[in-house]
Amino acid sequence: MPASIPSTASPAGRPKKIERPIWHGTVLSQHPSSPYISKTRDERPIVLPPHTSESAFETALRELRELLGEEWVKCNDVALVDGDYHAVPLSHDAYHILEQDDLVPSAVCWPKDTEQVATVVKWANRHKIPIWPISIGRNLGYGGSAPRVRGSVVVDLGRRMNRVLDVSEQNAACLVEPGVQYITLYEHLQEIGLGNKLWIDVPDLPGGSVMGNALDRGVGYTPHGDHWSQHCGLEVVLPDGDIVRTGMGALPGTDCWQLFPYGFGPYHDGIFSQSNYGIVTKMGVWLMPNPGGIRPFMATFPREEDLAAAVDALRPLMVQKIVGNVPCLRLGVQDATMYHKKTEFPLRENGLIDRKKAQTMIDKLGTGAWVFYGALYGPDEITAPKFDYIKKALSVVSGAKFYERKDVPSNHYLNDYAKFTAGIPTWRELDRMQFIPNASHLFFAPISAIDGKDALRQSHMCRNRMEEYGFDYLGTFFIGHRAMHHVISFMYDKTDPEMKKRALSCIRALIEDAAKIGVGEYRTHLALQDQVAGTYNWGDGATMRLNEKLKDALDPNGILQPGRSGIWPKRYRGQGWELKGGEERSDILFKRSAGRL
Ligand code: ADP
Repeated sequence: MPASIPSTASPAGRPKKIERPIWHGTVLSQHPSSPYISKTRDERPIVLPPHTSESAFETALRELRELLGEEWVKCNDVALVDGDYHAVPLSHDAYHILEQDDLVPSAVCWPKDTEQVATVVKWANRHKIPIWPISIGRNLGYGGSAPRVRGSVVVDLGRRMNRVLDVSEQNAACLVEPGVQYITLYEHLQEIGLGNKLWIDVPDLPGGSVMGNALDRGVGYTPHGDHWSQHCGLEVVLPDGDIVRTGMGALPGTDCWQLFPYGFGPYHDGIFSQSNYGIVTKMGVWLMPNPGGIRPFMATFPREEDLAAAVDALRPLMVQKIVGNVPCLRLGVQDATMYHKKTEFPLRENGLIDRKKAQTMIDKLGTGAWVFYGALYGPDEITAPKFDYIKKALSVVSGAKFYERKDVPSNHYLNDYAKFTAGIPTWRELDRMQFIPNASHLFFAPISAIDGKDALRQSHMCRNRMEEYGFDYLGTFFIGHRAMHHVISFMYDKTDPEMKKRALSCIRALIEDAAKIGVGEYRTHLALQDQVAGTYNWGDGATMRLNEKLKDALDPNGILQPGRSGIWPKRYRGQGWELKGGEERSDILFKRSAGRL
């Protein structure tokens, strides 16, 4: 194989269709592939919206059915079936960290266009019923399709609003509706003959929506990996039903809506991400023109303490954009366990991976205590000297080794990484769910400077706290041009209540630990959003005061996603809805988090 990887840049290396299970969608019913059902329908009455009687709810739903059509409104009266990644339930959070029936909607509806979304919003205002929009609902680890307020009505935008509305080849931009998944956008570009010319950025798994992920500020692997930064132009339904277009979209007849993000006057887009100020119905996204070649590579560093030197050596490469994608640096034990037989190196002691044993395995296999994955874009003449430059820069870490695809076996993760960095969807990351039975995961995801000392301090802090609570620390740093997302996955068995509580308590302790040293998270699960929001409290909570002023001005009835990102409208504020920690240590938590009916 040549040094660079033209196979991923050429049409032959880019499949037209991505294989997927026959069933691949969201469900509000029992699905036969589900491994288990915790609660049957008889054990679970419909949860009403807060402050709403059964008869008022019936009247409201009847009206909604008249507005949208009988078949586009359904009560959440089904058994709660966790399903799997491919069959995601709309009835609750499939990766529940509270009780399975805590974060549940009363009903789900499926509007067909922006006007119907506005209709739903006005309906919600009339009845004071909270609504919770989702694009696909695969935000697993952060709450899935579930609402924060029990009994909200989920507005599933993705089912009927799922078109790629426009693709501009010359501007490398497109306009999508909420239901466009990474996998469908990829296939759409293949179908219209632009798949080799225009690449997308995919996150770990391609079943989620391009819009939902960007709104939640998710990250991918290519130079377009900061998804929010690559959007351009939104169409938004405000909480009073008004419809706005941001940036150039405000100018009738413009052909620059997807080209120039700002327009004239205040730049509003920011208030619609990780917020509850509007329902986004269209979003512009910049695509990546085929760079003419790609060189994915890997560097390994032999010892855990090498993290500091490696990060310091990487900083100039990132700031100067010599490495132009979103590379990652991850704890090598994750990779090493993929390539050895478990019997050869038993790693666990008292249920946890033993550091000394792990280091022995890493030394024997030569896989690296930390592994860096990066990619260079462009033809060979550009990427070959860049790679030499990078090797030299990272060789300040003694024992650093470098690999390309030609140097590793075909089952090596670097081959999957080559797909990620070329924007080709894969399901490989689902393998992680085999790690423990009935696996669910939560993420603890603090931000770090690209600074060796900071990274090492965070890594030690997380490892110590996680081991105290009986969890392995398996951290990965996704490196941007000025900062890193330190993403740590907490795997837990969702059928084990003790383990769930332990995971939640541990993550709560970590949020506190982090805040004490000025470290904050970029994104978190619904159950933790009040606590994380509470740590961003400079100026005696000035940010939350601003958030609340905006909320009360835009959404006086508090119908849109109360509680998202810790922002509570006036109607709910200070009435016991907030979950700030401590509650989950007793069963009372589960009742309290259930909200007040
Ligand atoms: P995904 O498409 O990745 O499955 P989700 O649909 O689960 O993502 O949405 C992720 C988060 O973003 C959820 O909190 C959801 O409420 C919010 N969200 C998703 N789509 C929209 C939208 N179109 N407008 C407003 N908020 C949205």
